[in-house]
Amino acid sequence: GPALLFVKTSQGKEEGRRFYACSACRDRKDCNFFQWEDEKVSETRLAAREEYNRSHQPPFTHRQNVDRYKNFVLLPLSKRRFCQECQQLLLPAEWEKHSDHQFLCGITTTQLKSPSQLLYPLENKKTNAQYLFADRSCQFLLNLLIDLGFRRVLSVGTPRLHEMIQSRASQEEEFSVRSLLLDIDFRYSQFYTEDEFCHYNMFNHHFFGGEAARETCRKFLCEENGERVIMVTDPPFGGLVEALASSFKKLMAMWKETEKEGHDNKEMPMFWIFPYFFESRILDFFPSFSMMDYQVDYDNHALYKHGKTGRRQSPVRIFTNLTPSMIVLPEEEGYRFCTVCQRYVSSSNQHCEICNSCTSKDGRRWKHCVLCKKCVKPSWFHCNNCNCCTLQKHSCEQTDVGCFVCGRAGHKRSACPSLS
Ligand code: SAH
Ligand code: ZN
Ligand code: ZN
Ligand code: ZN
Ligand code: ZN
Repeated sequence: GPALLFVKTSQGKEEGRRFYACSACRDRKDCNFFQWEDEKVSETRLAAREEYNRSHQPPFTHRQNVDRYKNFVLLPLSKRRFCQECQQLLLPAEWEKHSDHQFLCGITTTQLKSPSQLLYPLENKKTNAQYLFADRSCQFLLNLLIDLGFRRVLSVGTPRLHEMIQSRASQEEEFSVRSLLLDIDFRYSQFYTEDEFCHYNMFNHHFFGGEAARETCRKFLCEENGERVIMVTDPPFGGLVEALASSFKKLMAMWKETEKEGHDNKEMPMFWIFPYFFESRILDFFPSFSMMDYQVDYDNHALYKHGKTGRRQSPVRIFTNLTPSMIVLPEEEGYRFCTVCQRYVSSSNQHCEICNSCTSKDGRRWKHCVLCKKCVKPSWFHCNNCNCCTLQKHSCEQTDVGCFVCGRAGHKRSACPSLS
């Protein structure tokens, strides 16, 4: 889909040269598209680019993949193969072509219903950054949505949540929740129909399936028979918040347009799952959002696992425009209700009388600094030189522009210690 317009700034200079680059790949190695804003592109280069794009399409369309799936499930277990190298379900006529690839045999219906287990996670940090929810967190999210009365979930970059909803819907008769997955990972088109999955880029709001896919999404957002919709998204953490926010606002607008009265002044309910150190960036774009204390855990991310297991605690939180008091967090996992703040907080998150709020962001107990007039991390101290609280180890009075991620001086967003 469309590229994004960036600006190159050199240290200290205000004006920079503007250029277009790929919205989805933040690493030039994944996509080397680059074009100065004012650059004239020759016919030959344009033709070469179109040829390149044509030759890099997936081997099958979504429609073809849906047909292939129908044929695949008719096969006896002994003939159901999945090529691990091509990440593709194989039909017997294709075995020959993949004969020197590794493959799995006897793919069961259960495996077909949990593609996120069958496919390997695309972990390349800068593009897909596929970190899958731990079962506990996924279970928690789904139960929370159900308890809040939602019956439709727009899953944007949350294949595992989508999968949990789909498989429960196919197993339990009374289970009435539906989900539509929007994701850039086209491998999922092998397992879901066009009504269940749209190939989508959340950095530029591009539907690869064109108007038909857009219409599928629009229809899904119509709250027929009072079935309330919520959007849940878990974008790659390296992604630009402004690009994501712009796309999410377009999805919200889509929801709003489905109702003649425009849903009064309401916003489409949303869970945006993202690290706590992006709080101020998210609130810049969505002032109605607040951050919940719940720590979201991941399966394939060694660092982002629950504190109780002895590992580092996950920095990932839920940002939502729902009333915080409605988001009930499990006591058995160490959360309590603060009656002053009217929200659930981590048990070690102390209510500060001076700030009049439970101020910890990372689950540890924070301390109040009277000079800064706010609570700060327990490991920080007040530096009289810098006139603020900071790490013990720091070089005083670095007047650099702050990092776009954490706001601190001395490094750029690409080198932010919060992200690594
Ligand atoms: N925790 C989630 C997965 C989050 S990982 C779960 O378990 O369901 C981030 C997801 O966003 C991945 O599924 C990845 O494929 C998707 N993604 C990455 N870049 C994207 C983009 N530009 N547009 C849409 N989806 C994207
Ligand atoms: Zn193969
Ligand atoms: Zn409180
Ligand atoms: Zn305080
Ligand atoms: Zn201080």
